[in-house]
Amino acid sequence: MAKCPVCAETFKKHDIDSLAKHFQMLNDRNDAFHVGWLREYVPMDNYNGAGFSKNLAAFFSIPDGDVKTWMEKKFIDRFLGDKPHPFIDAMQRPKKSLFLGFAAEYYFFLKQKIKSCSYVIAKTDKIEIQRFEGKVIMPELINPDGSNSSQMTLLIRMSESLGVSKDVIVNGVALPPTIHSIKLWNQISETDHWLEIMAAVNALDMLNSKAMRDRGAKFDLYNKGVLDNEWVPDQVKVFLNFVVNPANDTSQESLTLISKYAKELDMTEDVQSTFLRSLDAFDRHLQARLTRAKQFEGSK
Ligand SMILES: [Zn+2]
Repeated sequence: MAKCPVCAETFKKHDIDSLAKHFQMLNDRNDAFHVGWLREYVPMDNYNGAGFSKNLAAFFSIPDGDVKTWMEKKFIDRFLGDKPHPFIDAMQRPKKSLFLGFAAEYYFFLKQKIKSCSYVIAKTDKIEIQRFEGKVIMPELINPDGSNSSQMTLLIRMSESLGVSKDVIVNGVALPPTIHSIKLWNQISETDHWLEIMAAVNALDMLNSKAMRDRGAKFDLYNKGVLDNEWVPDQVKVFLNFVVNPANDTSQESLTLISKYAKELDMTEDVQSTFLRSLDAFDRHLQARLTRAKQFEGSK
């Protein structure tokens, strides 16, 4: 079904005209969330003209029929394009405090990711999907190769190498934007279809994926020159290498699965809408990593 990408109100399948009317009504009422979304994604001088519904349809249209391509483009435009997200921009010239802000907020994201992927496993009967999600989360939990090299462990070691104890990370409290975003991801996980959970959570791993360069990204998660800096402790380099290591990158596989089942289950519109809601939440979480970095800066 068509679904509002801001408030999740539902409409009949392919009923873009009703979705457009919904946006027009809330734009006239100056609803900050819907107005903000329109300005960001479908900028126009006048939303009450006949052209709006057409432009909204164009925004959701998938020229090559593959929602994977559409998701990659929207993600790059928002985070990795010519005007990258401020967090990505900061990661091109990082300071110690930025790594700490990254670790402190990302820790909570990873905890929610384990929960959300588990919801997918519980909600589907498809072994292919359960195997995939198992591959994503099990190394975070049991380190089957005995190397104790889960992302969470490496994240804590990175913080310790920068003078911040495990206790501060593990027993800390996330900033309000991260808490708000995690609530959304958890709510999607509890109430929505497993395919939408994948679109909301697994797809976000595009941020760390080297494959995005081939899709048009102008930036990587961090500037490679960072690894040459002598002041950067080894544990930071180990963490960064792990995060962007293609061997740990499940984002392309998740997008391929999402695209396949969006077609099979006729759920492309649901996937698009839930993905867009998640991008807003992710944006706020990345901003929180920066805010947290500033707090570390002040305390060091
Ligand atoms: Zn709405």
